[in-house]
Amino acid sequence: MTGQKVVLPFYHIVSDETPNHIYHLYEARSIEEFKSDLEFLLKNYQPISLQELIELNKTGRQPKQNVFHLTFDDGLKEFYTVVAPILKEKKIPATVFINTDFIDNEDLFYRYKASVLTEKYAAKGLLEVNSENLNLIDEFAEIMNYDFYEYLNEEQPYLTFHQIQELIKDGFTIGAHSKNHPLYNRLSIDEQISQTLESIDFIVQKFNLNYKVFSFPFTDDGISKDFFSKIESKVDLTFGTAGLKKDSIPFNLQRIPMEKNQTAKEIIKGQYFYYLLKRCFGQNEIKRK
Ligand SMILES: [Zn+2]
Repeated sequence: MTGQKVVLPFYHIVSDETPNHIYHLYEARSIEEFKSDLEFLLKNYQPISLQELIELNKTGRQPKQNVFHLTFDDGLKEFYTVVAPILKEKKIPATVFINTDFIDNEDLFYRYKASVLTEKYAAKGLLEVNSENLNLIDEFAEIMNYDFYEYLNEEQPYLTFHQIQELIKDGFTIGAHSKNHPLYNRLSIDEQISQTLESIDFIVQKFNLNYKVFSFPFTDDGISKDFFSKIESKVDLTFGTAGLKKDSIPFNLQRIPMEKNQTAKEIIKGQYFYYLLKRCFGQNEIKRK
């Protein structure tokens, strides 16, 4: 009824234990939940690769069959340790979106820092910190004499350069997720463009890729037509997280967040239902100014 035959589920982490840097932000999808998500998806949709998705998007048409492509944001190590072995066994392609500042555990996303400190010092207020006052997190850590580099060293939250290379060799695809995960609609358009293009260029060169894809950190809400027209010739696809929705920018695809307390069937059925409901009010497409 919706005519929407492409679903793009999106995750951050699959693990039976939610690590401290994520614990106060959202719950990890358990391995069992993830496996049953895959079972549902494989029963109703055909997995396609990123290259197939790019080609499909160029035609501007819906595929004949129902298809899905899996994506994972933030470049967390659990993609390598937990997810990739499961997907390899089932021959399911996936794309991982990486923050270039965090490869090899060089630094930690400020929301992850807030979660770590909240766990250690019950400093819940830090979870309210946003991009405008994020220096508060480092200031708090300094006062408490807390060393994030020690945490990074011990926990190794992110994928390393070598793990990414190995994933590419195994057929997985890699995209950029900005340099350091800022909230885009608070940045100037010049900053949005540099965060996007510099992170894409970095991974394309480092990993010798013949495709260029990008997923927005947090949300693409409020991103202008002007921004997209300035990056259009330099990307194949970009990705948002608004669920099953069309976008007035044809190469910006919306994905379905899967880290909810529901089964894949419930989440995806719900998305189709909302799509139909929103269509009644002409709200099934994101329109950009
Ligand atoms: Zn992210």
